[in-house]
This record gives sequence, structure tokens and C-alpha cells, in this order.
Amino acid sequence: MAEKSKLLLEECVTHHSSTCPSDLDVLLPPRVIDVNSIKNSERLSLHISASEERGSYTALSYCWGEPPHSFFTTRSTLQDPSKLDWGQLPATIKDAVTVTRGLGIRYLWVDALCIAQDDEADKSEQIKVMGRIYKTATLTIAAASSNSVFTGFLEDRRVPSIPLPLPLDKRGWTLQGSLLSPRILYYGSKDLIWKCQAKSFRSGSPGTAVS
Ligand SMILES: [Zn+2]
Repeated sequence: MAEKSKLLLEECVTHHSSTCPSDLDVLLPPRVIDVNSIKNSERLSLHISASEERGSYTALSYCWGEPPHSFFTTRSTLQDPSKLDWGQLPATIKDAVTVTRGLGIRYLWVDALCIAQDDEADKSEQIKVMGRIYKTATLTIAAASSNSVFTGFLEDRRVPSIPLPLPLDKRGWTLQGSLLSPRILYYGSKDLIWKCQAKSFRSGSPGTAVS
């Protein structure tokens, strides 16, 4: 699936320039996760973008699920953003790191890690730019099959199959902004669905139009 996603992205960037953004070098969000390009590496860091810094990044759209959530970024994490503890990351975020690496993209934006969750001022500041973050992301990864951030979406999915994409907004899904994305990769419990401005594709049924 990783290979297919990469091919779909390459096709989009190369052949859909009249409808889909072809410039992947965009203004980075204020903070992004540097996923490192080394496959299977557990080295991750929170990257604080310089003013006007550019690059390409994916954004994760997912359901937080039931608390407690102890993995998120706080003001104290931001004192030392150089290391994110891979062992502490929930499965859905680890899967998003894997997908981002598979696409050959350096950065990943996840609200829980890129916004200080115990800082109301930071939250309101960052939430203001969320629309732009989803809109300019190379693509949004929608973890549609996982009903909690701890479930993951690539392997070993034990949640029942759900129809896509209708139920996404019923579970505290961070879907609002992701609808602005020019490209979305939905990881359903059985299918991978690609949607860009020019093409819809569902894995298993090549060329199947999805609307
Ligand atoms: Zn496209």
C-alpha cells in the first residue's frame, strides 16, 4: 500500500497540475514532527520552524478517543523539543510517521504534538492557522479505521469495518480542517482511499471512482 500511495502522489503532482497543487515546497506550520528519513528509525523530533521556512509535510486527521492522553505536547516538552519519545507515542501517530516516511516526506503535523495542549494561548494561536495547515499540506492522512489514537490504522486493526467517510465527524474527529486538504489518503479498515481534486481511487478496485 505504501508503494501505491507514493505512486498516486507522484501521478497527482506530475499530471494534475491544473487542479491539484504541484508545488510541494510550502510554508511550514509553526511546529512539525521531523520524521527523519531513515526507515524504522525511532529517532523523531519536534521541529520548530523558522519564520518563512519552507518544506513539505503531511497532516494527520484522526480521532483522539477516550482520555487519558499522556503523550501530547505541553509547555515543558517545548523546552526540549529535540527528542520525541517513540515508545510513548500512540499507535495511530506511529502509523502516520510510517506513512509519511513511505511517501518520502520529511515532516508530519499532528495537533496533539504540534500544539501545547496545556497552554490556552498557544492553542488559540495554533487553531487559527489550522485551516491553512490542512490546506497546504502535501496530503492529509485520515486514520479512518481507528476509533482512538491508540488503535493504529496500518496493521492489526481490530475495530469493526466502518463505512467511509460518513461517520468520521461523530467521534471527535479532527475532520473540519482536513476537508480543506487538496489530497486525502483515507485508511479504512479494509481499503485505502485516495482523493485529490482530479482523481478518486480505492485500493482493490483499480480505477474505481469514489465520491
Ligand atoms: Zn491530483
